[in-house]
Amino acid sequence: MPLHIDTPLLESRPLGLHTGQNIWLKFDALQPCGSFKIRGIGAACEVYARQGKKRFVSSSGGNAGIAVAYAGRRLFIPVTVVVPHTTTERAKELIRQENAEVIVHGASWMEANAHAQSLLTADDAFLHPFDNPLLWEGHATLIDEVAQAGLFVPDAVVLSVGGGGLLAGMVEGLKRNGWGHVPVIAVETEGASSLAQSVKAGQRIELAAITSVATSLGAKQVCEQAFNLTQTCPIKCAVVSDREALSACEQFLADHRVLVEPACGASLSLVYERNPELAGYRNVLVVVCGGMTASLEQIREWAK
Ligand SMILES: *Cc1c(COP(=O)(O)O)cnc(C)c1O
Repeated sequence: MPLHIDTPLLESRPLGLHTGQNIWLKFDALQPCGSFKIRGIGAACEVYARQGKKRFVSSSGGNAGIAVAYAGRRLFIPVTVVVPHTTTERAKELIRQENAEVIVHGASWMEANAHAQSLLTADDAFLHPFDNPLLWEGHATLIDEVAQAGLFVPDAVVLSVGGGGLLAGMVEGLKRNGWGHVPVIAVETEGASSLAQSVKAGQRIELAAITSVATSLGAKQVCEQAFNLTQTCPIKCAVVSDREALSACEQFLADHRVLVEPACGASLSLVYERNPELAGYRNVLVVVCGGMTASLEQIREWAK
């Protein structure tokens, strides 16, 4: 039994009526840790457990850290998550709730990550939040499930991009199900558009800072794999505003009664805003990547 679950695949009536297309939602917001992350992280943790690793270490105060903590609890392996002082109480609470040890260290993620690296012994496995082929292979199960459902063949796939692990996983899933030709629309927010800016520059750039509220998309640089895929696969970039992402969170809550982070709202906003990138496709698959680190109060506060 894998650590992730087979999530619902629904055709959205309200979103379909809104754009005049078939909008299919893969509800990974309903995973045990509230996001798709457990697919890849769960798969990687199972491999490391089989290798005899005695501890999992993460430096993510977001959904990746929560997924590592969950995987450790399920596999009876202790977990240490090192997070910077900027991490919210809520995020720390969600990690501790999974029985993981939380170490608060440093002013930024860089310092927390450096401390996490310094703790590593030969018996530990370090779980990177997006740059690991084991993660991509695990994330790809999302597309396997869509293919196995046999309901439709996607004409386009919409997904959000932070460090590009989800993107790499979805492309791997499309390829291994014979759908490698299907275009992927990779969505970021302004202030976190490390992939779109790399594609524009023709090389992998690093952002000076992250200025978006979509913290789960806040990787200053995407992984090499994600950038390389843009050079060989049908991947288009879309950049939306924080306002559009937040508004999509509110509308999605009203339409489907599920609260997601702005990181996921970014993808959904393409549908709500009838973004031209979606024009002409009949069956559109939206990866509802989820996220549990933003409360409704926080989303409304940001929107103001
Ligand atoms: C991690 C995450 C992303 C981005 O995934 P990457 O693999 O970093 O590109 C998007 N949405 C949510 C909710 C996430 O947790």
